[in-house]
Amino acid sequence: MPKKTVESLDVAGKRVLVRVDFNVPMDGMSIADDRRIQAAIPTIKSVIGRGGRAVLMSHLGRPKGEGFEESFSLAPVAARLSELLERPVAFPSHDSVDADAANAVAAMKDGDVLLLENLRFNKGEKAGDLGFASKLAAYGDAYVNDAFGACHRSDASMVTLPTEMGAKPRVVGLLVEKELNFLSGVLAEPNRPFVVVLGGAKVSDKIGAIEQLMPKADAILIGGAMAYTFIKALGKNVGTSRVEEDRVKDAHRMIEQAANTGVDLHLPVDHVCSTAFTEDAGDIEVFDDEIRDGYMGLDIGPKTQIKFASVISGAKTIVWNGPMGVFEWAPFRVGTKMVGTAIADATASGATTIVGGGDSAAAVDEFKLGDRMSHVSTGGGASLQMLEGRPFKALELIEDA
Ligand code: ADP
Ligand code: MG
Repeated sequence: MPKKTVESLDVAGKRVLVRVDFNVPMDGMSIADDRRIQAAIPTIKSVIGRGGRAVLMSHLGRPKGEGFEESFSLAPVAARLSELLERPVAFPSHDSVDADAANAVAAMKDGDVLLLENLRFNKGEKAGDLGFASKLAAYGDAYVNDAFGACHRSDASMVTLPTEMGAKPRVVGLLVEKELNFLSGVLAEPNRPFVVVLGGAKVSDKIGAIEQLMPKADAILIGGAMAYTFIKALGKNVGTSRVEEDRVKDAHRMIEQAANTGVDLHLPVDHVCSTAFTEDAGDIEVFDDEIRDGYMGLDIGPKTQIKFASVISGAKTIVWNGPMGVFEWAPFRVGTKMVGTAIADATASGATTIVGGGDSAAAVDEFKLGDRMSHVSTGGGASLQMLEGRPFKALELIEDA
């Protein structure tokens, strides 16, 4: 069911509470990656451009919940946001619900932007506390959820607050609308062939997604560390590659399920391996099929890259979650880059392509492929849980269109 969006709100002269996801990666006191701030700009502009007052709120990291901690302050985010919007952003310091914050909200004029300090400085945020949520609710005439990366959470600002808004409007922002369009809309009825590309660190993280997508997919390509649990399930030698022993059985079951339901399940047929889990200290070799003792697989090999790229090139819908190798290190980057490029090329030939997962999105960014994908999700855990088909309480509380 589509949700009402901020565009349908009459915002002029109204205080619009916008829950955004400004949980950006920090490098000390500076922002390492501002994509999540940029992603919220369209919704903020939609509010202030029509004479609304945007009261923004977010969490950042995992402070203790016992008051202000400088290293988790949203101050650098407020500064960056002000640059991106080319206008001042009010930032009442230290606490999102103290008298300073309330006064700053009360002093706002039409078209103003204000960012509250990190919601998690208050224990009530994580606890879903009613008292905390009702203080936030008092700041606004309407509620907008544009925090896709937090939609799988039931924190106060995501769930208790929209409940506390009572009869006041509750809508999604433009980012959440876009994410829902792709992650639930497109996947409900994918154009075929539908190819799912999975990789990354752990099978246990992705099992729910594999199980949900398997009945819908025409082909599943598995790379990354998780491939070794599958290869082990086939009884092959994986050397010292990362294997989740307690998931070998699940991997076996999924291989059988794919065979029984006619889904093409592709595992790597060759591997870029090293004797050590380091960028350059190990002895690097490529093995076909079985990996020699003492070596671990750190990327898909050249034959696998070609195979995967060819399956991808025939697809009309592609979901990619999880890098094919340790792309952070130059010797093990090629598999992820080749697969990413093949997906970008498929987009150019008319396929709908969706990238989910924080590390996959970082890889796409590093290889400058972001503009060549239909959609790169800003949600890490949220996009994975949406691929698993889980219902989100935070979204159930938003009015249907
Ligand atoms: P995403 O965030 O896109 O969902 P994950 O968090 O599941 O992806 O996995 C990303 C991590 O997996 C990366 O840090 C990458 O280095 C690691 N990885 C990928 N392939 C391997 C491998 N063969 N061995 C060890 N680590 C791997
Ligand atoms: Mg990750």
